[in-house]
Amino acid sequence: MFKTIMTNVEALKMPAKTAHFNPNIDKKLLCTCGSPNCDKRGVKQNILNRLEEVRVLADRPLTVTSGGRCNNHEDELDRVTPADHQKCIAIDIAVSGGKERAEIVSLGLKRGFNAIGISKTFVHLGYRQGERPVMWVY
Ligand SMILES: [Zn+2]
Repeated sequence: MFKTIMTNVEALKMPAKTAHFNPNIDKKLLCTCGSPNCDKRGVKQNILNRLEEVRVLADRPLTVTSGGRCNNHEDELDRVTPADHQKCIAIDIAVSGGKERAEIVSLGLKRGFNAIGISKTFVHLGYRQGERPVMWVY
């Protein structure tokens, strides 16, 4: 528990970045709720490192549509317990069709993401340490 809290604090103080992802450019890596109480949380470095590996394998730019979210974010308001985005362990990547969707899901699994959500317009890539793989549709 203490370790989880510490890594969340790290995700707040030092926004993760990699060769191809930087919160100064990929603005949606950080919470975008706009609340004055927003802590602008991003994702953990190990999560972004996995995404970087997906990006390298895909060999094309990837568009982040959501990363970290604080509990004021509109998609988090109805939650009873924090989910992947609040825990800084998931990133949504835009996809424009079936081929891109299959590509991101396939590469995400290959690089160890184990919580994968599939929608018409994006793929949720999450990593839940020690948990069995799960996949859902929106
Ligand atoms: Zn926020």
